[in-house]
Amino acid sequence: MTADPTHILKAVYGYDAFRGPQAEIVDHVMAGNNAFVLMPTGGGKSLCYQIPAMARPGMGLVVSPLIALMADQVAALRQAGVKAAALNSDLPGDERSALWRDVSSGALDILYVAPETLLRRDILERLGQVPLSLIAIDEAHCLSQWGHDFRPSYRQLDTLAALFPDTPRMALTATADAPTRAEILAHLKIAESDAFIAGFDRPNIRYAIQEKDNPRAQLKRFLKEHEGESGIVYCLSKRKTEETAAWLCTQGHDALPYHGGMDKAARGANQARFQHDEAVIMVATIAFGMGIDKPDVRFVAHIDLPGSIEAYYQETGRAGRDGLPSDALMLHGYEDIALRSRFIEESDAPEQRKRTERQKLDALLGLAETAGCRRQVLLSYFGDSCEPCGNCDTCAEPPRLFDGTIAAQKALSCVHRTGERFGQAYIVDVLLGAEDKRIADFGHDRISTYGIGKEHDKRTWRAILRQLVALRLIEADLAGHGGLAISETGRQFLREKPTLMLRVPPPPRAGREKVSRN
Ligand code: ADP
Ligand code: ZN
Repeated sequence: MTADPTHILKAVYGYDAFRGPQAEIVDHVMAGNNAFVLMPTGGGKSLCYQIPAMARPGMGLVVSPLIALMADQVAALRQAGVKAAALNSDLPGDERSALWRDVSSGALDILYVAPETLLRRDILERLGQVPLSLIAIDEAHCLSQWGHDFRPSYRQLDTLAALFPDTPRMALTATADAPTRAEILAHLKIAESDAFIAGFDRPNIRYAIQEKDNPRAQLKRFLKEHEGESGIVYCLSKRKTEETAAWLCTQGHDALPYHGGMDKAARGANQARFQHDEAVIMVATIAFGMGIDKPDVRFVAHIDLPGSIEAYYQETGRAGRDGLPSDALMLHGYEDIALRSRFIEESDAPEQRKRTERQKLDALLGLAETAGCRRQVLLSYFGDSCEPCGNCDTCAEPPRLFDGTIAAQKALSCVHRTGERFGQAYIVDVLLGAEDKRIADFGHDRISTYGIGKEHDKRTWRAILRQLVALRLIEADLAGHGGLAISETGRQFLREKPTLMLRVPPPPRAGREKVSRN
């Protein structure tokens, strides 16, 4: 017996109409087809599998990576009168037997299951005996080995195609660039023609990206615009989440740390406070992510460079799920780029993988350095597009550019003459002709580039060097001590001297705090 999807939409969810591509997707799956659904966070993916799961005969099986996520979904469905349950390793024995009784008698509409559980032989066998309306694989990007949410057990979901050949398979995700998309389709044996890719724009999120100048002061200024609101501050390291949370508390904020090194109970408690209390700031590593189901996250700040454009999009996408104006701020510095490059080069990954990683980093730096609309760069990465948005920092205040050809030549020449082994601060000091013992000891006060950069101040030189790193004219010397070295592109630039336009750094902002290094 097949029920009417539009009727379920109204009866269960209380909505009058499907939104965006939902209707098309539901129809497609109702007809027994597979589907790949790529839709931004908040786009309404859940209905796309829940409604056909209920409307088609049999029980819908939903693979979900997190127990907390399953629990939330099941609770919401039950509240709406849907017979839903979750099967995972945490389930006590008696509840487990009751659940299997419901499964066998056909009393359940939707069963959520963790991938590790589903893939157990005994479970697969039992599920093979009940009619299934569909199998939905939520957060399908978890199967991508190159992605930041990789789950080994997700990879084994490829066996489902052969085990349940007559059951429609759905894969859903909010994040997948073209290669990840292709990987998901190939792995789960879903045809290109079954892919539904919805627009990626999150128009209510305002994007801003700044160079790290005085990160704590920058963060403080950003948070000032969000008093009394909830948000997330992402950091790279566990230690930094602790330090930053503690510091924010001294500044009068209600901030909590969250990272993979904390014990489960403490992490859970912090997540619960974030979820339910008002105006809590979660200072987290990327361990805080999937399963956040808070519609009114008003801001997301990255105080270190995120892992990739995809990661950035997904992490900022946690803001503003309710559609109200929200803010995303990213701070990035020269050290971030050097560190990330070093991770890539020093990893044991095969060369092809490293190449992909380098391209991803370049794309991210391109977003950070663009003089155009951030949203256009962001969306184009996903094969989507938009007009200049008017709701990002570069649209609001187009960066000024200057002819940086001579400055770049001076900087590269200084890097070269000091032996390609010093860091940014040292190079800037030499360019400005600083009186410094180290410079004198190395005899760098006698080279031709000593003091040739006095037309720019320290801030400007730092910005110039950072842009040269982002443009890959200079790279962190990986064999040495992380000093700067001239890349092949940089050598070519010195030979050909093409005009190079650089961004003028924004003027120093008022309200100086004690300068912190990172
Ligand atoms: P996703 O899983 O893609 O992040 P959800 O499925 O959680 O998104 O949906 C996001 C929000 O949009 C939810 O509050 C949901 O109830 C709402 N929503 C989904 N579909 C519709 C619709 N057709 N009409 C109105 N609201 C909808
Ligand atoms: Zn814009």
